[in-house]
Amino acid sequence: MAYSATVEEENKEIANRYKDLLKGTYQTLSEEDKKLIRKAFEVAVEAHSKQRRKSGEPYIFHPIAVAKIVAYEIGLGATSIAAALLHDVVEDTHYTIEDMEQLFGETVARIVSGLTKISILNKSQDASIQAENFRKMLLTLHDDVRVILIKIADRLHNMQTMDAMPPHKQVKIASETLYIYAPLAHRLGLYNIKTELEDLGLKYTEPEVYKDILLKIKDSKEEQQQYIDLFNSKIQEALDKEGFKYEIKGRFKSIFSIRRKMRKQNVSFDEVYDKFAIRIIYTPTSNDEKFDAWKIYSIVTDFYKPNPARLRDWITQPKSTGYEALHITVIGPEAKWVEVQVRSQRMDEIAEKGYAAHFKYKQGNVNENGLEGWLNKLKETLENNNTLNAVDFVEDFKLNLYAKEIYVFTPKGDLKSLPKGASALDFAFAIHTDVGLKCRGAKVNGKLVPLSHELKSGDQVDILTTSANKPNARWLDFVITARARAKIKSALKADEKKIAEEGKAILVRKLRHLKINYDEKLIHEISSYFNLKTSFDLFYRIGNGAIDNSQLKEFVAQRSSPIMSFLKNPFKRNAYKDITDDEEVTNKYDALVFGQDEEKLEYTLSVCCNPIAGDEVFGFVTINDGIKVHKTNCPNAISLQSNFAYRIIKAKWIDSTKQEFSAILKISGVDNKGIVNNITKIISNTMNVYINSINISGNAGVFEGKISLTVKNRNQLTKLINHIKKVEGVQKVSRVNTL
Ligand code: MN
Repeated sequence: MAYSATVEEENKEIANRYKDLLKGTYQTLSEEDKKLIRKAFEVAVEAHSKQRRKSGEPYIFHPIAVAKIVAYEIGLGATSIAAALLHDVVEDTHYTIEDMEQLFGETVARIVSGLTKISILNKSQDASIQAENFRKMLLTLHDDVRVILIKIADRLHNMQTMDAMPPHKQVKIASETLYIYAPLAHRLGLYNIKTELEDLGLKYTEPEVYKDILLKIKDSKEEQQQYIDLFNSKIQEALDKEGFKYEIKGRFKSIFSIRRKMRKQNVSFDEVYDKFAIRIIYTPTSNDEKFDAWKIYSIVTDFYKPNPARLRDWITQPKSTGYEALHITVIGPEAKWVEVQVRSQRMDEIAEKGYAAHFKYKQGNVNENGLEGWLNKLKETLENNNTLNAVDFVEDFKLNLYAKEIYVFTPKGDLKSLPKGASALDFAFAIHTDVGLKCRGAKVNGKLVPLSHELKSGDQVDILTTSANKPNARWLDFVITARARAKIKSALKADEKKIAEEGKAILVRKLRHLKINYDEKLIHEISSYFNLKTSFDLFYRIGNGAIDNSQLKEFVAQRSSPIMSFLKNPFKRNAYKDITDDEEVTNKYDALVFGQDEEKLEYTLSVCCNPIAGDEVFGFVTINDGIKVHKTNCPNAISLQSNFAYRIIKAKWIDSTKQEFSAILKISGVDNKGIVNNITKIISNTMNVYINSINISGNAGVFEGKISLTVKNRNQLTKLINHIKKVEGVQKVSRVNTL
């Protein structure tokens, strides 16, 4: 559709759209508010007067539309409406942030400045840069949530009007929307906008699928209405008798979520069984909305049999996004399962408008589990982790955005919400970073459990801590919250740095001993001799004992006799220069380990999917051929896993120099005061050794016990055993296989 209009028509249209903007604002505007908006409108019209959109329309249509979304759908007030009108002014025209501050004051200027910064960031293509942008966006989120809310409105309007864009740009913008904006809208409680963003995202990334589902939904609309009428006819009388004012609506699942279901369950459109829900929205009959909701529950279930396993009470305990409702699944007419969502008008408004509606109704609903608490935790997580890889961070973070929630209790009875699948260790980090870092065990409902124990709703969790404890890499296998992952990773990094520093000191000492000058060139030479990429890798390996004295001596020997070395090791010397990206992965992950205990076993790589080091893999125990390793996404994987689940063995690529393994020591001797203390002190003072469990008991002057440890390599363990043997009273220390 080509755009054409005379100047007069255009000005009239601009004025109309502006009037329309003021008409349906969610919040009531004062005279002063209106003045502010009027001024912002005038400045924006003037500033953008020379610009056109890709469609040919005057550019100002866009800021007006964004302001309208901000005012109607998100429900923000005058400051945000003004900022939305001005959101592209600084980026696109001669106006500066200083001008904004002079004209509109500090707050509007700050929001516009935040929006301008994000907009500049977003122009990069690279995934890691995008992830970095995402993190920066999250930081502004804490400064002023309105920046992100307006940004989401801006993105929504751009998605709504994307037809004029070239296709390659459409796909890029649509995938970024699905990657970043929809999850954020979800977290901020903007359910309608999230749904629209997802549907539009699908429209441009998979147009055929989108059209197909859209059509099928249209086709079944009539049938759906009949079903709702039928459902309603039975309960109507009973609801009326109780004096309820209510509205019953059918609510189709979004196109995007039907698509997700079809893919996840591998079914056709017709086979997705819960395509729509019935929504009962009521006006409270008393001050007690919750009581009303349960009354409606009682009426509905008098007529339709409920499935108790699918009852969800988000009124007593709202979701951390602020969502409140009572969900029941019942056997409706025609013996079909149907979900019924019961919510008051207030709850409905919160579900549609999210954050803004919360403020309107602020009455203790924004609790510690709500948005405020989330924003605070988010800020802490972000600020402490500038060194972490941004892509990793975003992946971790996004997992949590969509996760289902569970609710658990502290020993004092405080409620904490965690994503489903969270472990006791996640809980420890949710309490406090320090509690997480020093966590050594947990009691769930009074019973001792391992840190990896998966929590369930209703659990009461008591965390046991010890100052001797330090995080280790295995922890990452069973924490799922972004916060815990980030904290553990940065603690491990700090630990690695300490080891590397130690390693460097050792190296300097050794070289001095051998009368060799320490300089950059030499370090480079040693690194490439050991096939390592950076000096950090070298120092780290010396620090943890993976490269020991004898190996260093070998290096020195070959150095004074290059020919000998070449004969011994013809290809190694140049390896450093030739490392390609692929090889780098192989270098980092050089060994495959199996099972819970990460054992090294014999294996072959399967030919159907040719896994390489670093791939996500699993082992399959064959009858004649030992363990075959397949990629998790191997075409044969699904059938192997579903038909021969008992023959699947967990497999993982590791960097063998960084591997950790468990060892159990049996210790016995003469019982004296403080002996356990002395032994544990020695262990916890040894770098990179962690105590998993300890069990020592004394009897008639002698003691015996076992200690389970995590260590990084054998050298370390030998050293440690020797140290323990020197403790007064210790007579025997040996390594055993079982606890
Ligand atoms: Mn814009």
